[in-house]
Amino acid sequence: MVVNGRLLLDGGAPLLPHMKRVGVDPGAIDAVFLTHFHGDHTLGLPPFVLHRVFIDQRPLTFIGPDGVEERLEALWEVSWGQDWTKVMRPKFNVTYSTAEQSGTVAGYEYETIKLDHGSSGSNGYRIHINGRVLAYSGDTEPTAPLDALVDGADVAIVEATGPGDVFSHMSFDAATALKHRHPKTRFMFNHLYSGTVDGAVTDLQVIEV
Ligand SMILES: [Zn+2]
Repeated sequence: MVVNGRLLLDGGAPLLPHMKRVGVDPGAIDAVFLTHFHGDHTLGLPPFVLHRVFIDQRPLTFIGPDGVEERLEALWEVSWGQDWTKVMRPKFNVTYSTAEQSGTVAGYEYETIKLDHGSSGSNGYRIHINGRVLAYSGDTEPTAPLDALVDGADVAIVEATGPGDVFSHMSFDAATALKHRHPKTRFMFNHLYSGTVDGAVTDLQVIEV
């Protein structure tokens, strides 16, 4: 998800070609909020980083859970080996920021809420944009912290993985119940693995808020 052409929320594949297809400039992203480090949320990042190393070197900040710098630098090293360290890293205009309970990154105020997901958990974010609040869950179980994350938000982007039993994720029933508990919030459901649910967004969709 890209917000206002400036904020990237997680980075699953195929990130870079999708940005180009919807007319998002990969060089204009100034902050990347990572909820956790699972591959379906991070493995689109290497081609995007390639763009930010060789094509457009504007400043870029990654914000994520503890270990964000070590985890991402390890991913870049797996991707390019010694060429990363010797040639590419010196050209990369990057800042890594560990998410605090609340803070400001790249000019955006945010709060972090720890959500339940697998062994690592997931950082949910409330991001303040032009006086509005965008809540973003990443992956989560339908537990109490998720309600705190979306409470009073103008827009909530929340995962809804599939029908029935979806281990460590949101089922369609849980997503629908969450939406009904917060009727003033506009929900957009993503991360669908099979089927669909009311409020789901689709790949390459552009939404005006
Ligand atoms: Zn995950």
